[in-house]
Amino acid sequence: MSDSRTDHAFTATSLYGIREEPSYAGALSFMRRKYTHELDGVDVAVTGLPLDLATSNRPGARFGPAGIRAASVNLAWRGACWPTGLDPFERLAVIDYGDCYFDFGRPDGIVEAIEAHAKTIIEAGASLLSLGGDHFVSYPLLRAHCAKHGPLALVHFDAHPDSWREDGKRVDHGTMFFHAAEEGLIDPARSVQLGIRTHNDETHGFTILGADWVHENGTGAALSEIERIVGGSKAYLTFDIDCLDPSFAPGTGTPVCGGLSTAQALSLMRGLGAIDFVGMDLVEVAPIYDSGEITALAGASIALEYLVLLARKKG
Ligand code: MN
Ligand code: MN
Repeated sequence: MSDSRTDHAFTATSLYGIREEPSYAGALSFMRRKYTHELDGVDVAVTGLPLDLATSNRPGARFGPAGIRAASVNLAWRGACWPTGLDPFERLAVIDYGDCYFDFGRPDGIVEAIEAHAKTIIEAGASLLSLGGDHFVSYPLLRAHCAKHGPLALVHFDAHPDSWREDGKRVDHGTMFFHAAEEGLIDPARSVQLGIRTHNDETHGFTILGADWVHENGTGAALSEIERIVGGSKAYLTFDIDCLDPSFAPGTGTPVCGGLSTAQALSLMRGLGAIDFVGMDLVEVAPIYDSGEITALAGASIALEYLVLLARKKG
């Protein structure tokens, strides 16, 4: 007789709720969600984009989706979340849609592959929570989201502005927001970059709240600025884990000292309830440089806070 007390990724009979499963056992999925391509009745599909071909220095973010899924099971033993006790999985039907396939031997086709993958999910009526992958994945993701929603406000957590012009043509994990702005996928005047601590001569009109600004003024002031700038616009949330200080997130390719703490990041995430997000990605987790899974756990925790934000809206 089969035993359905484990492997909930495959044995779950409902898209809702959490059932306790030992964190050291069972088939992995994000937060033990059902692993499926069936999109009927789904509110949020979580998907992995295991790409690190656009990384400038240290690769390894292709292992990010697997690392975040593995860390997330430590959060999946109970649905009720701190500090409100709200269980996002009682209100939202969330699945793990698995990973996007692309051919690393045909890099010219990767943008189209990721964009088509995202569109399949979005056009079915589910919203998308993507796990990177290096930050380049935001470019095809923004193309897919803009096709449905029009130009978006960007709320961007990062150590780097990722808006470098370079030669104006190449697209990598440091230039894609220059291109996204140029192509009208995002509106810099309604966009905020938080936690930045690397210089770019050009801001392209983005509002930058550097990590030092957040340390000096606090998360409450940062949230007020985000609300003022983004207002009621439809927005996309992109969270590069290197926004966190290397002491909180060593498992990433391009760490920069002086970043936010995990506590500051969680505080900011919990305060974003006024923003109308249509999608999110969490990128640049590279488990090979991690220590004690702290980076992957931070990534899973931040992604979970996004689901709590959506669940609060559903009421
Ligand atoms: Mn980035
Ligand atoms: Mn970065």
